[in-house]
Amino acid sequence: MAEIKKPLGSNERTKIERIGVHSHIRGLGLDSSLDAHSASDGMVGQLPARRAAGLILQLVREGRISGRAVLLAGQPGTGKTAIAMGLAKSLGLETPFATLSASELYSLEFSKTEALTQAFRKAIGVRITEEVEIIEGQVVKITINRLASGERGVAWMTGKLTLKTTDMEAVFELGGKMIEALMKEKVQNGDVVALEKASGKVTNLGRSTWTTMNYDAVGSRTKFVRCPEGELLKRKEVVQCVTLHEIDVINSRTQGFLALFTGDTGELCSEVREQVNSKVTEWLVGGKAELIPGVLFIDEAHMLDIECFSFLNRALENEMAPILVIATNHGITNIRGTNDRSPHGIPADFLDRLLIICTQPYTEDEISKILDIRCEEEDVKMSISAKGLLMKISVETSLRYAMHLIILAALACQKRKGALVEHGDVSRVYHLFIDVKRSTQYLTEYQNEYMLNEINETEAMQS
Ligand code: ATP
Repeated sequence: MAEIKKPLGSNERTKIERIGVHSHIRGLGLDSSLDAHSASDGMVGQLPARRAAGLILQLVREGRISGRAVLLAGQPGTGKTAIAMGLAKSLGLETPFATLSASELYSLEFSKTEALTQAFRKAIGVRITEEVEIIEGQVVKITINRLASGERGVAWMTGKLTLKTTDMEAVFELGGKMIEALMKEKVQNGDVVALEKASGKVTNLGRSTWTTMNYDAVGSRTKFVRCPEGELLKRKEVVQCVTLHEIDVINSRTQGFLALFTGDTGELCSEVREQVNSKVTEWLVGGKAELIPGVLFIDEAHMLDIECFSFLNRALENEMAPILVIATNHGITNIRGTNDRSPHGIPADFLDRLLIICTQPYTEDEISKILDIRCEEEDVKMSISAKGLLMKISVETSLRYAMHLIILAALACQKRKGALVEHGDVSRVYHLFIDVKRSTQYLTEYQNEYMLNEINETEAMQS
């Protein structure tokens, strides 16, 4: 591979936002000391679980520890996915957050381990420092090597300013005045500053102008520009954040850049990954890039089989590994691919390496607050009695089912040209769309009239 290509930064792609089931979740609802507010950022209740997720958030932000895995365990609809989404939102756009439902692994055209490898690499970001050619009047990037201590005095005089260009790296001794200006602007490693007007060889940056410059040393297209004494112009970021997977895809001869848009990347060749790894390591060692380990979230973890668990065990040993968060609503059950039973269907050795966070069932007050938030999110206005009925339905069926009814009741209201969703609208859609409990009851009642009915009479009586 001649040259490792970088894809567009994520902020250069346009997203289409729709109202999704978790779109009301804007974060974990924590304060600056990572304590949880009872309702904030769209999140309600689940205080201990959110506090625990806050510590995970800190772990990811610090980015120093790899190979950690977290299990979110709890009954259906208790907010495990919502907490994972809250974590993703709190991390911000720069930190990669990849999600995968374990059952997806069985529907792909490639192997489970390839799918998991891709998911892992989607959760590892690389912040690449853009190297720009310096031409007259252009904005350039600088790297300050010796300014980190922030000390003033004699130390300034020995500071170094590194100008990076595409084909060279020039290091200049700085005079006190320039350092002072850099300090004033709080310029840090990787910042960009604009400099003015080209001229010759640089000998003493402490003076008011850069007087001379040796063009031969830096290539004919490169010109350095003059910086007025003590003055640094506005800073501008030229940093790209991409994932290892994105770099893999655009460097894969068979897939190519367009595969990033279709999402149809297929199986990637391990040779490309190795080349990408060594190039990224080179960038990291050369200070041209920084690794941003993110989060890989795998829902329905009970659907992972023994092969997947051994892959995950191994993958987490890698020092580039992201933080793995898995979630399940299953109790003690079979480990897929074996005859063994274990808590959540997760092998004991893997379970042992997990930090486990439990979610609890909601109180009526919390359910009511979540339903209010969803009505607001879906822009649905509901009367008090309609809300009361929805609450009752949620307690007797599930929070998810009640949430589905919100937009349906709004459509029923629209159909009768009403301005406010009323008790009757909710009741109407409750009878049109049945919940799981009623559906099961119906099935057992009419089991004999269905084709391929597989339960016997005793089982039917029990259910
Ligand atoms: P399952 O085990 O069935 O996958 P889950 O525990 O992942 O369920 P979610 O999908 O997170 O549950 O929650 C169901 C719905 O309720 C989602 O729309 C979610 O955004 C919302 N929800 C759950 N908990 C909260 C909460 N604490 N605050 C706000 N919304 C919540």
